[in-house]
Amino acid sequence: MTNGKIGVTTENIFPVIKKFLYSDHEIFLRELVSNAVDATQKLKALASRGEMQGELGDLTIRIAVDTDKRLLTITDRGIGMTADEVDRYINQIAFSGAEEFMAKYKDQAIIGHFGLGFYSSFMVADKVEIITRSYKEGSKTVHWECNGSPEFSMEESDEAHDRGTTIVLHLSEEAKEYAEADKIEELLRKYCRFLPVPIAFGKVKEWKDGKYVDTDKDNIVNDTDPLWMRKPADITEVQYKEFYHELYPTGEEPLFSIHLNIDYPFHLTGILYFPKIRNNFEIQKNKIQLYSNQVYVTDQVEGIVPEYLTLLHGGIDSPDIPLNVSRSYLQSDSNVKKISNYITRKVADRLQELFNTMRPEFEKKWDDLKIFIQYGILTDEKFAEKAQSFMLWKNTDGKYFTPAEYEELVKANQTDKHQTLVFLYVDDPVAKLAALEAAKGKGYDVLEMNGPLDNHYVNWYESK
Ligand code: ADP
Ligand code: MG
Repeated sequence: MTNGKIGVTTENIFPVIKKFLYSDHEIFLRELVSNAVDATQKLKALASRGEMQGELGDLTIRIAVDTDKRLLTITDRGIGMTADEVDRYINQIAFSGAEEFMAKYKDQAIIGHFGLGFYSSFMVADKVEIITRSYKEGSKTVHWECNGSPEFSMEESDEAHDRGTTIVLHLSEEAKEYAEADKIEELLRKYCRFLPVPIAFGKVKEWKDGKYVDTDKDNIVNDTDPLWMRKPADITEVQYKEFYHELYPTGEEPLFSIHLNIDYPFHLTGILYFPKIRNNFEIQKNKIQLYSNQVYVTDQVEGIVPEYLTLLHGGIDSPDIPLNVSRSYLQSDSNVKKISNYITRKVADRLQELFNTMRPEFEKKWDDLKIFIQYGILTDEKFAEKAQSFMLWKNTDGKYFTPAEYEELVKANQTDKHQTLVFLYVDDPVAKLAALEAAKGKGYDVLEMNGPLDNHYVNWYESK
């Protein structure tokens, strides 16, 4: 049995944790499950290099609650830790095992580095236990325990335990909601929905020696293979639509999708959708979900994608976005700027492609797309430039033209004596029927401009 004090540099980390993350207690679950995923991925990496003996077996991560006892457990069948490793990675909080592992196996996607990691569990628990056994042959079970003071105890024993780690949280009175099955399931669906290792959640049926023995085993809460991770060439239109509904179960059919996929100078994958937006676009904001290595981070993407693109829906996954820093930092981060520019360019390219290859379809969806494109034109110069070749104007006969096509159409008839081209438009073709008929009678063409941004757009166009 070892007794010791946590941390080589910090006298007491707990007040810091409580203060720092006060408003966001629930992320402890994301941290613990991410660690379990990392431990599992590390084991797979070792196995694929032949550096691990024995069977991988079932790698499902199991999460269970015991509401009455206020217990929450997270169990993985990953690499586990030896006593020495617990000492290094848990007791000496200055170390990060993720960092060490990354330095050794550079190509491996390890989550690590979200925030305070393992110690965030003390935001919600009075006492935390780690019961772990390393994959290394001949390893003993290590039982670590800490009650939220810098003192911990650690014991090595022959206690039976599968390879891997069980974290047991003895939840505090104030945090008892995290012993409720519904709450945990909600959080798992939020943060862990696309994690790459199966995660099962259940209620504990029986506790034995500080471990749960039997849970509802098959309640897998995640999709380990989100569509954005696959090659665009292997994905059908139907799958894109199905995935949209997976992200937004109550959403309307999206108009188009864009698959993002970039390796250099940063990593980013994702699928964005043009949703149906009409007049109520304000309330539809904050819908793009941001992930890092399949871990949900936030749906507050302002600053990462340009303002008008926050109207889009979908998921973006990038390990290169700094996640635990302030918004103002994010906005000045050069990686984030590059990401934002890249997304703008991809969206414009995709619209251009749709316009070029399927114009009738594009026109059919124009009334829904228009507000989004106008918003982009009004707020982003680069986008405005590109959009000139796919922006459409609709006339009162229901025909669509690009600005260039339209100029061509009316040039002969609507150029005044100062050689200025005159465009006629009407905001309410029904109320202004008489004037409309009169103009048409003279052989003039009339545009219909009655969308919520048309006024602004016309002003913008006139100023050009
Ligand atoms: P980070 O994940 O950023 O390294 P954490 O505080 O979350 O920081 O975890 C510290 C270290 O403890 C990890 O890097 C890892 O080495 C070890 N660790 C934590 N949880 C587990 C686990 N479930 N299995 C094996 N090792 C773990
Ligand atoms: Mg971690």
